[in-house]
Amino acid sequence: MKAAPFSYVRPTRLDDVVAELERAESTGGGKVIAGGQSLLPVLAMRLGRPKTLVDITRVRELAELQDDVGTVRIGAAVRQRRVERELARRVPLVGRALPWVGHREIRSRGTVCGSLAHADPSAELPAVALCLDATLTVVGPEGRRRVPAAEFFTGAMSTVLAPAELVTSVTVPTPRAGEGFGFEELARRHGDFALAGAAARVRRDGDAVTEAALVGFGVADRAQHRDLTVPMAQAVSQHGADEKALTTTLAEAVDQIAAEVVTASDAHASQQYRRRLMRVLGTRALVRAWTDSRRRTHA
Ligand SMILES: Cc1cc2nc3c(=O)[nH]c(=O)nc-3n(C[C@H](O)[C@H](O)[C@H](O)COP(=O)(O)OP(=O)(O)OC[C@H]3O[C@@H](n4cnc5c(N)ncnc54)[C@H](O)[C@@H]3O)c2cc1C
Repeated sequence: MKAAPFSYVRPTRLDDVVAELERAESTGGGKVIAGGQSLLPVLAMRLGRPKTLVDITRVRELAELQDDVGTVRIGAAVRQRRVERELARRVPLVGRALPWVGHREIRSRGTVCGSLAHADPSAELPAVALCLDATLTVVGPEGRRRVPAAEFFTGAMSTVLAPAELVTSVTVPTPRAGEGFGFEELARRHGDFALAGAAARVRRDGDAVTEAALVGFGVADRAQHRDLTVPMAQAVSQHGADEKALTTTLAEAVDQIAAEVVTASDAHASQQYRRRLMRVLGTRALVRAWTDSRRRTHA
């Protein structure tokens, strides 16, 4: 199938992007196009028929990758591959998740913000954004607002974005002292979307856990974030360095998420299998994050 007819504009200023999106609203609807890696298949299958595509990749300020004290800011036109090359060490959880996003060719075109705006429930980057408490900057006719990742995703392929709004950047915290990260996923073939996956962040103070967060993805209409500080702290104080005992105890806490797996059985996996996966991958991600936290004594 071919896409339905559309017009295409490529502004070079952010104001003009917003003006074009606003104009498109009254003429049959518009869509931002960034890397096109998700949008073009949608158009080709006629799952969407926007009348105007507004290409944001020529807006200079959206192509910025800014490394500040304590955070990095990734502009909306920055490709995933560039982040993988330049920021993998600076934001380790992003660095661990990106190789799982499609293939290198896809990441050479796809953008980090495009993946967040697309809000696929099986996508890696929304889960990472939730796990790290990232903040999205959104611009539209009413001005600029900052939206925490926890408030951005509203369901499968849906977000708080209004029709004439776009994400201009995402700000991700860099690791603090004592923080560690884990990322686990299972896909049928490398580059496929995940059957299920988990991102974990744990913070320690000496031998005690002070924060633990787990995000499961591919298991519901959007990634699922849980604060597991209490069970993680209890498990660590009980079992210390005994990784096997730690794993068994944590698996019970991870069942919180596993029990809530609602993704229906499909040709790839049954719901029951996804539940088991969530339990295994979630536990493994937490244990990895705990081990990793030992290496980061300074921010
Ligand atoms: C073969 C293949 C395999 C893939 N595998 C994976 C995978 O395993 N995991 C995964 O996560 N993804 C996967 N993807 C998707 C890929 O990561 C996309 O690049 C990403 O989801 C969307 O980024 P994009 O820049 O290409 O956005 P586009 O395709 O340009 O846009 C996607 C949607 O987001 C909107 N949008 C884009 N940018 C903005 C913005 N700044 N503000 C507001 N709205 C915006 C668009 O209007 C559109 O609705 C795969 C894609 C392909 C083709």
